[in-house]
Amino acid sequence: MSRRQRLASLLHQTGVMRAALALRSSMPSPWLSVLTYHRFPSPSGQDLFDDEVVDVTPECFERQIVALKKHFTLVGVDELCAFAAGRLLPPNAVAVTFDDGYLDNYEIALPILKRHGAKAVFFLSTGCIGERRMYWWDRVAYIVKRTPVSQIKLTYPFPVEFGLANRPLALERILRLMKTQPGLDLERFLDELAHAAEVAWSQKIERTFAEQLLMTWDHVRELHRAGMDVESHTRTHRVLDTLPPADLEDELAGSRADLAREVGVPARALAYPVGNALGRNSPIRAAMVQAGYEIGLSSNTGSNPLNGPVDRFDIRRQAVGLNLSEAYLLAMLTLPSLAHKHPGQLAAD
Ligand SMILES: [Zn+2]
Repeated sequence: MSRRQRLASLLHQTGVMRAALALRSSMPSPWLSVLTYHRFPSPSGQDLFDDEVVDVTPECFERQIVALKKHFTLVGVDELCAFAAGRLLPPNAVAVTFDDGYLDNYEIALPILKRHGAKAVFFLSTGCIGERRMYWWDRVAYIVKRTPVSQIKLTYPFPVEFGLANRPLALERILRLMKTQPGLDLERFLDELAHAAEVAWSQKIERTFAEQLLMTWDHVRELHRAGMDVESHTRTHRVLDTLPPADLEDELAGSRADLAREVGVPARALAYPVGNALGRNSPIRAAMVQAGYEIGLSSNTGSNPLNGPVDRFDIRRQAVGLNLSEAYLLAMLTLPSLAHKHPGQLAAD
């Protein structure tokens, strides 16, 4: 257990946390916290895909929702947009968000949320859902986990080698390249990667995995009917600041059009793929306005203080790491200064 986790447990056991929570519920909330989840562990325990997006077990998520319902007010996109426009939030506001559109959001998270009368916001990469395409990080993870070679040599986008003695490190290096290379032709890169890694890949294989991993539009419509917010996470989850203007417009406006067509939802919020906050002068701000978004959410960027100006295109969020104790979650929401920037890294704290 990390020092911060131990401190959170101590505060919990000694009643300090209870007193802080009681105090907080009796006065206006000094900050807004937005939590980010992605997916649950594979039931078989044998995950073929990217382990880094596994945030929470079903049991832990249910305990967290019960604790959140007890001590906080769960809010959705209406309240987030009102907050960004300068209006007051309900007391002790917290938003629960899920990124990407994994099938287990529908199969596991939705029944838990319904059981406890809780609300969440689901950010969806609409092109992947509609066209049954795997998320690119899962495709890369599958290749790196399955490859029989000891080194992957690529020529595109430049000559580069990835040694596989440490596969998690190789995966991280490949994903870093994909997240930062301007104008990357994603399909070309992924095809070359599978070929160099000697891992069989085809549209049929991709579709089979996509059916296992992703929600369908029917699932999304059901989320919406159940009172959940469904919003945009672009079309294909490209990192926005690596894209040329035409692709940027397709990712932003195209995703809103997909949601309007399939669910009848005029999306107002976008969660940035990989979560990078926008710079003050980023051209992406103008593209967000042009596409019709009211707010943008970053990741791993902390909580939002209520006593200063709000940047509507940088609503900050806090990641929920796997095995995060309830005590730590409550501490992180009640006393944000206790919170680590990335709870998933707490084990090394
Ligand atoms: Zn994402």
